[in-house]
Formats: sequence, C-alpha cells, structure tokens
Amino acid sequence: MINEKNAESLKLHVSSQNLAFDYSKLCTSLSEWMRNLLLQITQNKYDASTQGTIRHSNFGLWVSHKAHLFLAGRKELRLLVLQLDNIDEEMRLLGIYVLDKNVIAIEETLSHLNEHISTTIWILNNLANDTIEEENGRDPLTHLFNRRYLETVMRHETRYSLENGILFGCVMVDIDFFKNVNDTYGHDNGDRVLLQLADILAQQVRAGDFVFRLGGEEFMIVLADVQIPAINIVAEKIRFAVEKFEFKLSNNIPLTLTISVGTAIHDGHPDFKNTIKMADEALYVAKESGRNQVVAAPQTPITYAVKND
Ligand code: GH3
Ligand code: MG
Ligand code: MG
Repeated sequence: MINEKNAESLKLHVSSQNLAFDYSKLCTSLSEWMRNLLLQITQNKYDASTQGTIRHSNFGLWVSHKAHLFLAGRKELRLLVLQLDNIDEEMRLLGIYVLDKNVIAIEETLSHLNEHISTTIWILNNLANDTIEEENGRDPLTHLFNRRYLETVMRHETRYSLENGILFGCVMVDIDFFKNVNDTYGHDNGDRVLLQLADILAQQVRAGDFVFRLGGEEFMIVLADVQIPAINIVAEKIRFAVEKFEFKLSNNIPLTLTISVGTAIHDGHPDFKNTIKMADEALYVAKESGRNQVVAAPQTPITYAVKND
C-alpha cells in the first residue's frame, strides 16, 4: 500500500514532459548504440571483451532502476526487460561468431539485434505518446489531475456508488487570501506555494483517492468509499496539515497560510454535478464564516440497502 502510494505520488510529481524527454533520449542512444556496433563490425574493430552489456548501458540502467516506478504493472515494462535479455543474448552470440569469423552467423545476429532495437524503440515511442496524452489530463504546474479527468472520475464514482451502495465524497479546498501571497511575494512564489500545497494534498489522501487542481488556487479531492463523519475528519486533517506547514518561498523565506474547505457526500443524485455544487456551497460558507475551517454540506446521511449477493 505504501509502495503503491509512493509510486503514485512520484507519478504525480514527475513532469510528464521530462518523462517524454527521457524516452526520446533513450531512443536516440539506442539507435546510436546500434550504429556504432555496425561500424565496429564493418571496420573489423569489434572487440567483445570491451563491449559492455546492454543491461549496464544507459538504457539498461533506466529499465532496471527507474522504469518500474512509472510502469509498474504495465505490459511495456515486461516487454522492455525481455528486450534487454534478447539483446544481451544476441551480443553474447555475436562475440563468439566474431572470434570464429563466421560471416553468415554475424550477419544473421546483427539482423536480429536490429529487430530487437527497433522493437524497443517502438515500445519507447508508444510510451512517450501515452505520456504526452496523459499530460493533457494533468495540470502542468502541479501535475495533479485537471478538469479533463473530472467528468470521467465523477461519472465512474457515481455509477460505482449507485451500483454498490458505497458512498464517495468531494472535498473542495481554496487557499485563504492567496492574492496577498502573489501581491507580496510575486507570482513565482505563488506558484511555489501551489506546488507545495499539491504535495500536502497528495500526501494526505489514500492511493484510491483523486486530487484535482480545478484552477487557480482551488483544489478538489474525490474520496472513494467514505461516509459522514470520516470525510470531515479527513478534511480537518488536511486543513490542520496546511495550517501547521511551513511553506518555503525563494531564498528560503518561510510562509504559513490557511485553507477553507467544503465537504459533501454523494447523495444518490445521478448527476455528479450536484455533489460538487454542494461541496462548493459548503466552501462558500466556510469563507463567509471566517475562513480556515471545514464546513460540511447540510445533508441527511443516506443509507443504501445492503446487497446480500
Ligand atoms: P479568498 O480567501 O476569498 O479565497 O481570497 P483569495 O485572495 O485567495 O481569492 P481570490 O479569488 O480573490 O484570488 C485568487 C488569486 O489566485 C488571484 C490570482 O492572482 C491567484 N492565482 C490564480 N491562479 C494562479 C496561478 O496559477 N499562480 C499564481 N501564482 N497565482 C494564481
Ligand atoms: Mg482563495
Ligand atoms: Mg478561489
């Protein structure tokens, strides 16, 4: 559970653009590696004893150390590891054939190697494309989900809730007097605060919950499988975590600030917008009542009939 959460938190905070850049660098270095190998062979300069394994190349190190953080559970990871094994096996054979001066076997091995490298580049390109698409659903500053995923997530949660009798909730968060931060310390420092807040929010929720940046200094958390009063306990925990946190501005200038929070539990209404609206209205009440507080939407706790199947 902790590993999953850490991987998720890393995924949320590593820029997808950086990741896409990693993929394209890896593709370039693999093509170069293949070109060098061909050059060495054609110029009779190939020496197996000085040739490192692909597993210890930049690409191999990336697969073994970094890829599992982004690709855990994805078939592409398995395919990349398989390609590492295939390439190293062909390299082992190549070393033998070069010593034997077996030209036909050398050519055949080089052709296999070329295929493995092409397949690997193809996998990496696909991953890069996925990553860029993902970026479209992410907020470029905080890398939290943006509004694009909101509808999908809310529809899914609403359907799941209606079908399984499990409740979910929305926690709406807005920074108090954020305009003052920008006005006093500049927009860049405002952005720093938003990033650090995104971190706190991501840390405070479970792996199955969703954190969105709706825009500006407004965030929303969709808490899966939650009831009254648990949702308000989580919201209060978040409010308190922010209140006691020392934000760091440029030149290590410390800053404390507060948030106002509104919560609402899905009330069985098939239109998810209803739940968001209730949380929003609760947030408005929190602001009006003096800020730095959690207000729950007024609702009668609903109980679903328990299914016995
Ligand atoms: P309140 O307590 O009523 O919420 O006051 P507030 O100042 O937080 O609210 P208001 O809506 O008046 O101001 C929000 C400010 O958020 C205005 C804008 O300058 C700032 N803002 C919005 N988006 C960004 C952003 O991406 N980066 C930075 N640095 N500031 C942003
Ligand atoms: Mg605000
Ligand atoms: Mg606002």
